[in-house]
Amino acid sequence: MPWCESCSRFQEATEIDTEGHCPTCGTVIAPPKRTPWHFKLLVVATILYLTYRAVQLTVWIIHAL
Ligand SMILES: [Zn+2]
Repeated sequence: MPWCESCSRFQEATEIDTEGHCPTCGTVIAPPKRTPWHFKLLVVATILYLTYRAVQLTVWIIHAL
């Protein structure tokens, strides 16, 4: 739970925005919550894999007809 100097109180982690600003005064009190690059890579890789599987399925259906 991050402490805000300006407000002299603790702020709920859920109330702080993605840039780490205090919800009351707007001072940066926590590091920004950035999406880690490896998570983005995983998402992209999953989409590419699913697209590949979808194409494979389509080809299989065409041949099965
Ligand atoms: Zn504050």
